[in-house]
Amino acid sequence: MSLHDEPLQFRVLGTFEITRGNRRCTPTAPKQRALLALLALHANEFVATRRIVDQLWTRGAPRSAIAALHGYVTAVRRALTPGWNSSRNSHPILNTRPAGYVLCLEPHQLDLTRFRELAKRAQAEIAVGDCARAREAIAAALGLWRGAPLADLRETGVFDHDISRLEKEYLELLRNRFDVMLCHGDGHLAVRELEELCTDYPLRERFHEQLMLALCQADRRADALTAYARAYRELSSHAGIEPGPRLRAMHQVILSGDDPFDRGHRHLAGAVTRRSPAGR
Ligand SMILES: [Zn+2]
Repeated sequence: MSLHDEPLQFRVLGTFEITRGNRRCTPTAPKQRALLALLALHANEFVATRRIVDQLWTRGAPRSAIAALHGYVTAVRRALTPGWNSSRNSHPILNTRPAGYVLCLEPHQLDLTRFRELAKRAQAEIAVGDCARAREAIAAALGLWRGAPLADLRETGVFDHDISRLEKEYLELLRNRFDVMLCHGDGHLAVRELEELCTDYPLRERFHEQLMLALCQADRRADALTAYARAYRELSSHAGIEPGPRLRAMHQVILSGDDPFDRGHRHLAGAVTRRSPAGR
């Protein structure tokens, strides 16, 4: 296989990177990078020229924007496919459509597609009660996460909405990860990370709830009550609200000395219950 035949790989779950084999093909010009990142986030979807212009020129597009965009498209096509000739009508992956473009990527060419597939699979495995398989899918998905998405394009402000959506998907995956760990009685392994998440995302009640469960599983009920007090403080000081019904109920169960795992991850709650109170 010649270098030219190797498939391009697009990565958005970290800094934006495009590689072909060992070779980096990411354009250095900021607008060209942003254009490709935008198309990659919407891989295999039609993206209107109007929308691209609006998004790339955040402070209002000059009259020359459309012509400039055509220039960027030609430049990135060459960067992606060495030897590509602009007099040809078609490009192997960046296709022109009436009033827009489509970047055609196979699932294995984009980390985001694989990440979403794995996250969806994990969710489905949890739903049918196979937490061991869910755990594998979650680990594989987390292996694709290299850090803050599109970290090098963050300053442009172009991707604020996309970045926050990706971060939500990541937090959702973490939530499933801790559910699965708790389901397997591994709460003691989750305490430190959950404490950090509760600090970073003080308004996410599910992380507080999972931290309380993890502490109970680690035979640290008193600390679980302290964690609740902290959640209470955080919620009231940051958002002026009280803990929601789930968190309050969890607090009551721990206070009363009942088994909190009845309220945790449902389908294997019984299995974990039988391992308490010694837990682990
Ligand atoms: Zn489970």
